[in-house]
Amino acid sequence: MKGDPKKSGFSTRAIHAGQSPDPTTGSVTVPIYQTSTYVHDELGQHKGYEYARVQNPTREALEQNVATLENGLAGHAFASGMAAISTLLTLTRTGDHVVCSQNVYGGTYRFFSQILERYGLRFSWIDSTNLDAVEAAMTEETRLVYIETPTNPMMEITDIAAVADIAHEHGAVLAVDNTFISPRFQRPLELGADVVIHSTTKFLNGHSDSIGGILVSSRAKDADWFAFVQKSVGAILSPFDSFLVLRGLKTLAVRMDRHETSGRAIAEFLNGHAKVKHVLYPGLPDHPGYEVQSRQATGYGALITFDLGTYDAAKTLLDNLEVMSLAESLGGVETLISHPASMTHASVPPEKREELGITEGVVRVSVGLEDLQDLVADFESALAKI
Ligand SMILES: *Cc1c(COP(=O)(O)O)cnc(C)c1O
Repeated sequence: MKGDPKKSGFSTRAIHAGQSPDPTTGSVTVPIYQTSTYVHDELGQHKGYEYARVQNPTREALEQNVATLENGLAGHAFASGMAAISTLLTLTRTGDHVVCSQNVYGGTYRFFSQILERYGLRFSWIDSTNLDAVEAAMTEETRLVYIETPTNPMMEITDIAAVADIAHEHGAVLAVDNTFISPRFQRPLELGADVVIHSTTKFLNGHSDSIGGILVSSRAKDADWFAFVQKSVGAILSPFDSFLVLRGLKTLAVRMDRHETSGRAIAEFLNGHAKVKHVLYPGLPDHPGYEVQSRQATGYGALITFDLGTYDAAKTLLDNLEVMSLAESLGGVETLISHPASMTHASVPPEKREELGITEGVVRVSVGLEDLQDLVADFESALAKI
């Protein structure tokens, strides 16, 4: 792409940023550089590429692309979302304290509480939608504030700019997991966050055919550190997966817009249905996070959680859907529907699930790109069997 990518619109950047035509052939698409090493021209002279754990042109194109979309300084791509989160946490040292949203992705909770606590890190799990609770949790040792917004499956919304102020007043870094909504609708770095995390597995790749993760940073010292850890630990995204995510990103804007139009329509449909007790979707005006979401993002996404009251009702619905797929994960072209209590959140103790509101009748749907009328008809006929 010629000129300053920051001046172009989102879709133009998604299609072109980081992706100049291949210098050898003019190939429009960034090739999959499937190589482990690079020949030196002569001793002491190379083309900037030495060994593929450290530099790979396909991965670099992806990293630049996502960094541009998030309006950050640099991106670093990893073998999974969890590998990206592991790298982020190397910003901390033994004895440091981390303030964390209580409702984060289950793998994040497991990594922090069952692995990192063994290394002398301390975590405070708080309701980050409550700014007083964030402020009260901050200590002299707090190095990192870690939030996810919206959360899974309770769709809690945290005020990113307000939490950034609190973190910075205490000299801490704010990291935001932006996986659920994508930079099409929400760009945490523009609201004051220092690092954005994505599981590219979800909306960024968007086709349910790759596992990956990325960190985008706004400060040079964090970017340099992530490059150093990426090279030292080696949990890099492969050239083929980098290619797949780049391919997915080209349609991110059109996909997200459609995901959202359908998401909103399905949320309204469910909200008006007699068999549905309660719908959680940040785009419904009675959602407690509606006002903050409307202020800090340009969309509400495609994830909806709703309560059918009992396990049996949830099972009847899930067993009778024909278009939607009963599966974990989200953000793909296909509509994926799941039962958090027995699937994604099965490892959370039942009392804790109850406390978080993840009861036996709760269902979570990631609305895909099928025809809206087919999705509504699928819900209508399965709900009728309850
Ligand atoms: C899936 C997910 C992750 C973990 O990503 P993987 O690619 O599965 O390792 C982290 N955060 C959120 C919000 C996720 O949905």
